[in-house]
Amino acid sequence: MKGSCLCGAIGFEIDGPYPKLYQCHCSLCRKQGGSVSNTGLIVAANKFRWLSGESMISTWTRETGFRSYFCSRCGAPLPNPLRDTGTIWVPSGLIDGDEPLEIGAQLYIGSKAPWDRLPPGGLQFETAPALTELIALLHSRSTR
Ligand SMILES: [Zn+2]
Ligand SMILES: [Zn+2]
Repeated sequence: MKGSCLCGAIGFEIDGPYPKLYQCHCSLCRKQGGSVSNTGLIVAANKFRWLSGESMISTWTRETGFRSYFCSRCGAPLPNPLRDTGTIWVPSGLIDGDEPLEIGAQLYIGSKAPWDRLPPGGLQFETAPALTELIALLHSRSTR
């Protein structure tokens, strides 16, 4: 499946099979995405490739390692490497077309905004499981 930023300058492609999505309600993800939560998917780095606009990617990294990549023209959040896991985090709203994706996990519901209503679907976590466990969960075929 393919994805692109708001202005269309930056494009990318992901090879299937596709993992489930997760939604993170933590305060960092809310600021990064500008909304109630961040919905993303985590894919193996070798299943991801940029198609266009790579030179327009701007980056910001918090001291703790939290990363934000964004289009230097339109400001849309962009895929970026997830620490040293060999995976790429992809903001799901960038995906083009009607891919049959589903939510596998709700993270940091313990720190969600008071007005945030959790959507149905996915296992719920007060914080988050270890990254390797989360990746295994989202790539398994049998949750829900
Ligand atoms: Zn853009
Ligand atoms: Zn988060």
